[in-house]
Parts: sequence; structure tokens; C-alpha cells
Amino acid sequence: MDLFKNKTALIFGIANKNSIAWGISEALYAEGAEIGISYAIPSLEKRVRPLAESVGAKLIEECDVTDDAAIDLVFEKVKDTYGSIDVLIHSVAFAERDDLTGRFIDTSRTGFRTALEISAYSLVALARRAEPLMTAGSSILAMTYYGSVAVIPHYNVMGVAKAALEASVRYLSVDLGPKGIRVNAVSAGPIKTLAASGVGGFRKLLNYSETASPLRQSVTQEDIGQAAVYLCSDMARSVTGEIHYVDAGWNIMGLTVPFEELDQDG
Ligand code: NAP
Repeated sequence: MDLFKNKTALIFGIANKNSIAWGISEALYAEGAEIGISYAIPSLEKRVRPLAESVGAKLIEECDVTDDAAIDLVFEKVKDTYGSIDVLIHSVAFAERDDLTGRFIDTSRTGFRTALEISAYSLVALARRAEPLMTAGSSILAMTYYGSVAVIPHYNVMGVAKAALEASVRYLSVDLGPKGIRVNAVSAGPIKTLAASGVGGFRKLLNYSETASPLRQSVTQEDIGQAAVYLCSDMARSVTGEIHYVDAGWNIMGLTVPFEELDQDG
């Protein structure tokens, strides 16, 4: 299929081939999109460049999303390279490791600020630069997690950051809606990536999602890629401001313990 033929997607948040953003890049590329890629820090280039080249990316640029000048520079290069963009993928998050293992109550002021700035404010900063390059039918998509609405052990300040990100999705969708630009988020189930490995107890969380979600399975980067294709394409032309769960149904459960375990106790 060619859902994104003659369309350009700008992707933020690839660290390596396991990144959710890479799953999304592959899915959009398979649908004909021209892919532009931005990565966080110089040391990632050796992993990101070969991936970017494999999808023929004309733009492969470093950008720390805490740096306004760096964001401006990337968008100048995007404008020079493509003229306009149709899709913006925000797949960026960070919190200090100490803040993802201990108690939430111990989150420091700096740790809180860092998590919120990188994981939530950056969506606003990128959307503002993308707006003038987008036309009606364009789409912005962010990645979030259920820890924004319910307590997940150790997710802590990242849960607060994801709540801010999801609220930002709604406010941005109202700002950009009159121009026909849609803003949504995918709330993904746990997937083994670099960022996820920083969350205390992640392996067990992944295991629970496989044993206690309605579909009894975990989700993959490919699953998120397919959801991104839907949400960023005209198939979802009337969908904006939404948080779309791709989590094997985990979020609908009242008790995330395998039913089999309860049955065993009689
Ligand atoms: P990932 O591969 O580690 O991707 C996270 C990306 O954010 C990395 O490329 C990281 O770069 C980048 N980043 C961090 N700080 C940055 C900064 N200052 N400027 C620019 N980029 C920065 O992990 P992932 O799991 O695919 O995460 C992608 C998104 O999905 C995140 O928003 C995450 O919260 C969300 N998500 C993940 C899961 C999951 O279970 N994996 C579930 C739901 C939602 P560095 O490697 O340099 O830090």
C-alpha cells in the first residue's frame, strides 16, 4: 500500500533498532513515506545512521530536545530538505534512573523538571516548529504509557510526565485542529527498549502483560508502527486529541493478575 506516498515523516526518538520510533519509521516507510530522522546525542549516530540510511533518509540530524537552538536548527534543515512535513513522531522520554527505582515522594526538583521538560514540554516545542511546515491532513503523534492514569510501580515521575504529555496532546489538538492538523498519542504496552530498561521491575511488568492482559501477549514495535500508520493516515482523518491504547487490552483490566492464578485458590 502507498498510504504515505509523496508524504514526509519526521521522527524524533530513535536510539537503536529496538526503539519504538524505529518500528514506526519502518511502518511509515513501508507505506511510501519519505523519512527524516533526528536522534538525541552524538554517541547514538553510529547506530542510528545505518538505520536511517536503510530507509533512504535524506535528513539525519542530532537534536537534544532541551535545546531550543538545536530544535530551530533541525527544523531549518527540515524546511531546506523537504519544504514541508506531513507527519511528526515524538517518541522521546527521559527521567533520572534514581527517579524510576525508588519512591515517588523522593523525586527531586531537578529530576521532576528534567522528566517533564524532556518527556512532555518537548512535544509542545516540536509541534510549534512543525506547525508552519504542515498543512491540512498532517498529523502529530506522541508515545505515552498507562502510568499516566494509574500507578505503576517505579514509573513515578514518568507517570506525571506522561499525564502532562497526554494533556498537551489534547491542548495541541485544539490549537492545530482549525488548520486540519491532528494530534494524538499511542499508549503502548511495555516493550523492551533502552528507555524501558531504566524502569525498576520492568521485566516483571512485561511478564504480567503477557500473562494478565486480555490478549495474553505483549506488544511489539511493529504493533505500534501499524497503529501509527492508522493514526497518521487519512484513515483516522476525524480522530484528534485521542490517547489510543495499543496494549493487548491491559488498560481495561480492574485486576491485572492472571485469572488462572485466582482460580487455583478456589
Ligand atoms: P528508546 O529507544 O530508549 O527511545 C527513547 C528516545 O528518547 C531515545 O532515543 C532517547 O535518546 C531519546 N531522548 C532522551 N532524552 C532526549 C533528549 N534530551 N533529546 C532528544 N531525545 C532524547 O525507548 P522507547 O521505549 O522506544 O521510548 C520511546 C517512547 O515510547 C517514549 O516516549 C517512551 O516513554 C514511550 N513508551 C515506551 C514504552 C515501552 O515499554 N518501551 C511503553 C509506552 C510508551 P537517549 O538514548 O540518548 O536517551
